[in-house]
Amino acid sequence: MNTRRNFLKTLGISGLALNLVPYTAWANSVAPYNKDYDGRVLRVAIMGLGSYGTRVAEAMKGCVKAKLVGVISGTPSKIADWQARYNIPEKNCYNYENFDDIKNNPDIDAVYVITPNGLHHDQVIRVANAGKHVICEKPMAVNAKEGKEMIEACKAANVQLLVGYRMHFEPQTLEVIRMRNAGDFGKITFFQGLCGFKIGDPAQWRLNKQLSGGGSMMDIGIYAINGSRYMTGEDPIWVTAQETKTDHIKFKEGIDETIQFQFGFPSGAVASCLSSYNMNNLDKFFLDGEKGYAEMQPSTNYGPIKGHTNKGELMQPITNHQTVQMENMAAIIFEGMQPIVPIDGYEALKDLKIIDAIYTAVNTGKKTEIHI
Ligand code: NDP
Repeated sequence: MNTRRNFLKTLGISGLALNLVPYTAWANSVAPYNKDYDGRVLRVAIMGLGSYGTRVAEAMKGCVKAKLVGVISGTPSKIADWQARYNIPEKNCYNYENFDDIKNNPDIDAVYVITPNGLHHDQVIRVANAGKHVICEKPMAVNAKEGKEMIEACKAANVQLLVGYRMHFEPQTLEVIRMRNAGDFGKITFFQGLCGFKIGDPAQWRLNKQLSGGGSMMDIGIYAINGSRYMTGEDPIWVTAQETKTDHIKFKEGIDETIQFQFGFPSGAVASCLSSYNMNNLDKFFLDGEKGYAEMQPSTNYGPIKGHTNKGELMQPITNHQTVQMENMAAIIFEGMQPIVPIDGYEALKDLKIIDAIYTAVNTGKKTEIHI
């Protein structure tokens, strides 16, 4: 018998409802999900109506604290489609030329930027200058310099900058973090993060340096970087890294195909990670300590996330990551909720500094210090 299913049965949670059960009741960080919520609702416009934007929009149907109310898109046919699908009024529809006018729209609180990485910097700064809170997809930018400028712009405009780190609200992940903090694994000694998939269409923006800022590291390797930090509870202080390229036509100059990288942490713990656009089935985290361990596979896909520790199977509820993320982002913006693992611009800047250091280590072949 599946123990996860038995556990959920005992909680009276079954079938479709699983997707909408938030982590909050278990993680104890915000008030439990409340269908009768009558507080302030975060009114969100999505910029970039692509694959992930669509996923977020669908997930937001399950939110009570956040609502999709607007769109910003370069494709008029998508705008018409989304207006019909999500009941979006004409006055909340913008394109990339006129979205600065959003500053005059009192019915939009925040813009969620879900466009190619290389566009995030300018778009986030324009949203901040329009006086709206910004949610930005990962990677927040393509290097630390851009990231700092985005943080500064949001600070100057007095708006919040949050980044789409959906794993920071995922229940199995939070349970491992709780166990680590409780000392269940003892002193942490090692983390392994394997993140990769075989990328398709060679013409897509992810393989265009100007739009992507890099290759697999920007897109999928960042999960191992960020995961190494929230799983160990430390930020790395040095990195060594090696790139392997087998297809120089698909993966042009500046687009990394596969990078293996190793971190050292202040405590003496080490990490060994792999990021790839040319290997399948790589979605695995392993955390080792002197008294125990945690293993997760899949560790960062849309779920269900599965894992076990030396104490047994992780049995936290299965959630829709994007629904829970948006609920929590609304609570962060309007209620001052503090997430267990931060999701603000400073958190994202740390990952960008590490990415910069990884590329330096690849290019120099040297052990590179990381100054966070
Ligand atoms: P898509 O290519 O599916 O969508 C991107 C959208 O951006 C396009 O549909 C388009 O929307 C808009 N866009 C604006 N300018 C351009 C341009 N020059 N070229 C291409 N598209 C453009 O990408 P994804 O949705 O997969 O990724 C978008 C962002 O979300 C990335 O930063 C990515 O890293 C992140 N992401 C995060 C995930 C997560 O789990 N947190 C998962 C997947 C992606 P329109 O036609 O409306 O203008």
